Amino acid sequence: MNPVLPDDLLLLQRSVRQFVDAALAPLAKQVEERDEIPRSAIDAMAEAGLFGVGHPEGWGGQGFGKLGYCVAVEQLARVNASFWNIVGGSSGLCGTAIAVGGPDEVRRRYLPQLLSARKIGAYALSEPGAGSDAGSLRTAARRDRDDYVISGAKTFITNAPIADLFVIFANAAPDKGSKGITAFVVERAAPGLEIGPNDEKMGLHGSTTAQLFFNDMRVPATQRVGDEGDGFKIALATLDFGRLGLAAHSVGAAQRLLEASVEHARTRAQFGKPIAANQGIQWLIADAATEIHAARLMVYDAASRADRGERITQRAAMTKLFATETLGRVADAAVQIHGGMGYMRELWIERAYRDARIARIYEGTSEIQRLVIAAGLLADA
Ligand SMILES: Cc1cc2nc3c(=O)[nH]c(=O)nc-3n(C[C@H](O)[C@H](O)[C@H](O)COP(=O)(O)OP(=O)(O)OC[C@H]3O[C@@H](n4cnc5c(N)ncnc54)[C@H](O)[C@@H]3O)c2cc1C
Repeated sequence: MNPVLPDDLLLLQRSVRQFVDAALAPLAKQVEERDEIPRSAIDAMAEAGLFGVGHPEGWGGQGFGKLGYCVAVEQLARVNASFWNIVGGSSGLCGTAIAVGGPDEVRRRYLPQLLSARKIGAYALSEPGAGSDAGSLRTAARRDRDDYVISGAKTFITNAPIADLFVIFANAAPDKGSKGITAFVVERAAPGLEIGPNDEKMGLHGSTTAQLFFNDMRVPATQRVGDEGDGFKIALATLDFGRLGLAAHSVGAAQRLLEASVEHARTRAQFGKPIAANQGIQWLIADAATEIHAARLMVYDAASRADRGERITQRAAMTKLFATETLGRVADAAVQIHGGMGYMRELWIERAYRDARIARIYEGTSEIQRLVIAAGLLADA
């Protein structure tokens, strides 16, 4: 009996776990080797409801809320980080930006397609000169009658090579600083949109990433998300939820690494006994289990608060910081416990170790999460 989750979410947890084991686990190695998630796997994830799990039923989602989303993501993270990354970039970030910003006409036009994965989305905030300091972005939007004309570039955009639509952020009033930032939905066919080649990355093979170039790209004003100048607020509110998803992903990935480490420690014998008999190994396992438990409770707490309508900026930052740092420590311990085999491509541990590294960087680095947490604490000082 899980003391924290209600029965419907325990059922969701079990069904996603079964789906992941049956449909995705057999593809994990292929995805890594070919650097591609087959369309059939995307369709299967959509069929299982994974693109819409956290969004309201009225927009085509499953209605399980943020807690349900986190419960599902935790299970999805167990086999290959890229499966979650495509969901997180599409309905997670792109879909949430549209849901948060509106208006209803834009929500109606795009959310049902995103939440069923008939269209894949991407969220384009980062630029070559504006990563951690996203508010200083330079992409410019100029109003021209019923259109905006957008020029600039975005970098490291998850799903860009395969996405059908993008939520992009551009400044429509640079004299107002980040208060001039405005969000738009851009379709792949937009005149003036150019998409760079798939980036070569350390890990997350299967999840595609690319640059975007806007060459006087024309976007109808009806494609604006929220009001002019609301873009940065929409970007940050979206990241609160994105960070929760990434934290849930980190918990699931760390849990799987812990289970493999326990199994290996029990079965690998050296000096005439299982390596698990050594206190040095036991401590690695005990620390990993303790931190994962704490991270999971942080995720459930922050997600439940979000579902109750609380603002979770600080808690999402704490949760993302702790869960992703936990994943980093657990992945390192897992390689150590597996010894030389942990370093070999033959075993998935090596891939999980590389995949884990990005969690402390994207959606705000660990340093930026600390700034967000401190800003909340010091705001009244
Ligand atoms: C695989 C991948 C996928 C991504 N997907 C997306 C996506 O879909 N959409 C999107 O918009 N972006 C995406 N990003 C971009 C990602 O969010 C940024 O890389 C991240 O925010 C960091 O920005 P940066 O790389 O410019 O690093 P920088 O901002 O240049 O930071 C470099 C270092 O300086 C530190 N630093 C910076 N400022 C401070 C400070 N004030 N105090 C202390 N330390 C500081 C940082 O913590 C970091 O360690 C992705 C990146 C990667 C690698």
